[in-house]
Amino acid sequence: MKKIIMAVPLVEMDGDEMTRVLWKLIKDKLILPYVDLKTEYYDLGLQNRNSTQDRVTTQAANATKKYGVAVKCATITPNKQRMEEYPELTEMWKSPNATIRGILDGTVFRAPIITGNIKPTVRTWEKPITIARHAYGDVYKAAELITGEPGECTLTFRGESGAKQSISVAKVGGSAVWLGQHNTDESIRSFARACFQYALDTTQDLWFSTKDTISKVYDGHFKDVFETEFEAYRIRFEAAGIEFFYTLIDDAVARVVRSKGGFIWACKNYDGDVMSDMVSSAFGSLAMMTSVLVSPDGHYEFEAAHGTVTRHYYKFLRGERTSTNPVATIFAWTGALKKRGELDKLDDLQDFACRLEAASLNTLRDGVMTSDLASLVDDGTAVRAVDSWEFIGEIAKRL
Ligand code: NAP
Ligand code: MG
Repeated sequence: MKKIIMAVPLVEMDGDEMTRVLWKLIKDKLILPYVDLKTEYYDLGLQNRNSTQDRVTTQAANATKKYGVAVKCATITPNKQRMEEYPELTEMWKSPNATIRGILDGTVFRAPIITGNIKPTVRTWEKPITIARHAYGDVYKAAELITGEPGECTLTFRGESGAKQSISVAKVGGSAVWLGQHNTDESIRSFARACFQYALDTTQDLWFSTKDTISKVYDGHFKDVFETEFEAYRIRFEAAGIEFFYTLIDDAVARVVRSKGGFIWACKNYDGDVMSDMVSSAFGSLAMMTSVLVSPDGHYEFEAAHGTVTRHYYKFLRGERTSTNPVATIFAWTGALKKRGELDKLDDLQDFACRLEAASLNTLRDGVMTSDLASLVDDGTAVRAVDSWEFIGEIAKRL
């Protein structure tokens, strides 16, 4: 068979543990036989991040800016326990995702992969609900304080011009806790643009919610920035037949649960953290959730929403064939190949990615699946739980 030719390389970021094992398997069995794969390869596995002083992560992010599209395998974010597990680590390296987000300045969009025979807990949901999570600031970059006596707390801003703004937070009669949080106009603006762009790319309505009735200045400012930025997109939204609307977060929650799905829900950082876990578990499994980082300049980084599946990796090291679900990682590849095909006008590359997605979904619809999904099927399909190798082999047959 003549292989599909690519024009511009994909930025390929390899990763760790079980997902690294699946990464190679997916490439060998599902992609390389059909595509003359062009990638610029970066090994983001923990050992290589350590031996390059984590420069490889920055290089990979910069390459994404150069080429526009990346596909990333899950990676270990070292913590104290990992420092003991990998004694050769010279530093507790930062989360690669945080480094990449910092360089690309993006918004993370997470959407469930729907099969039909795995029914969402919310019966009305027919189409995916995509969560767009602002990935900077608020409570994730807050200053916190605990105090032990009566007194007053104030919030002061000192401008570089020398101007000063100060307000009283509260006077308290005893011990208390305090929190100061912030966001920047630049970050909120790029969040808004990424959401508008993604809504246009995927032809879906965009909802945005905050609590601006209570937080009139802070959340009110998010709302204002979105409304101002929307003016540059309004005509394109009308032409695409999609809408943008703002509503209070409590109203949004009620509407989401009553909806049929099929829209993007833009959330502030904390809301997005919580709501994406709610949406993914209500749809079935974290292993069936795709994730893409979209930068305001239109750069894309595709990945699975789950981690490196450590528990399975240790079983694999003991010689066991695990039943680890590769679907979200396959969809990271297909998402990246489709985007590459779209940008380079390569119809056969896009078509191949669609066929690989269809082959994966059809395998699941036929009842052949990894064991995490087997218990979720409730439409009477006869289920055969298989290991990752057999599962990928079944996808290859259908492909
Ligand atoms: P995890 O790798 O997502 O796994 C947590 C559990 O979820 C697994 O033990 C497994 O449950 C289930 N699971 C997740 N993905 C699965 C899949 N594809 N197939 C089947 N089951 C799946 O999260 P973690 O154990 O908290 O984190 C492990 C490492 O991943 C950490 O070092 C963390 O830093 C890293 N991480 C990386 C990313 C990223 O690169 N984007 C994201 C999150 C975490 P059972 O064990 O019950 O089968
Ligand atoms: Mg979370």
